[in-house]
Amino acid sequence: MYDGVIFDNDGVLVPACAFSVFREAAHRTFDSFGVDPAAEEVRDVAAVADPDRVREICATHGLDPDTFWARRDRNNHLAQRREVAAGRKVPYEDTGVALSLDVPTGIVSSNQHETIEFLVDRFGWEFGTYYGREHTLAGVERKKPNTHYVDRAMDDLAVSNPLFVGDSESDVRVAENAGLDSVFLRREHRAGYDLSVDPTYELGALADLPSLL
Ligand SMILES: [Mg+2]
Repeated sequence: MYDGVIFDNDGVLVPACAFSVFREAAHRTFDSFGVDPAAEEVRDVAAVADPDRVREICATHGLDPDTFWARRDRNNHLAQRREVAAGRKVPYEDTGVALSLDVPTGIVSSNQHETIEFLVDRFGWEFGTYYGREHTLAGVERKKPNTHYVDRAMDDLAVSNPLFVGDSESDVRVAENAGLDSVFLRREHRAGYDLSVDPTYELGALADLPSLL
C-alpha cells in the first residue's frame, strides 16, 4: 500500500534541542549586530519564525533581514552541532528501524539543510534523500506544512504514496496537504501535545512502524 516513508527529523530520528539552546543562539546573533533585543524578539527569532515577524524585528533595529537570518541560521546550526558533540542530540534507540525498511525512505525537516546533512554524515544514515530548509527567509516560507520539500523528496525517491512520520502538527498537516497518510509519533516529549488535526495513525515508537507497511 505505501511505497515509501518520509520522516521528520527532530523528535523522530534525534531529539530536538532544548529551546534554551535556540534562545542562546538567537541572543548571540543579535549581539553580533550590536542589538539589545526584547525577550519576545529573541523568542520569535529562536523559533522557526514567521518570516514577516522576522522582517518586522529587523526593521525595528535597522537590520537587513536576509543577512540577519543567514547569521541566525548559521548560529543555530553551530549550536546544534555542539549539542551533538555533547551527546544530547543523538539517535533514539529505535532510529535504526527507519534505516532498515524495505521501501525507499527520506527525511524532510524544517531544520536547516546544513544541520540535516551534518546529522546524516555524522551518524552514517543511509536515506534515499533528505531535505532541510535553505538558510533564507524564502526557505522558511517553504517549510512544512508547505509541501515544497515533500514534493521534491517524493520525486527523488520515485514514490507516489509514501507514509509521512512526524511528531508535530505541521507534519500531520503537510501530509494532509500532499494527500498522504501520516503517522503521529508520540514519544515521551509529546505526552501532553494536542493536535488539532487527525493523523492516520498514532504510534508511541518507531518499532511499531513496519507493521503499517
Ligand atoms: Mg519534529
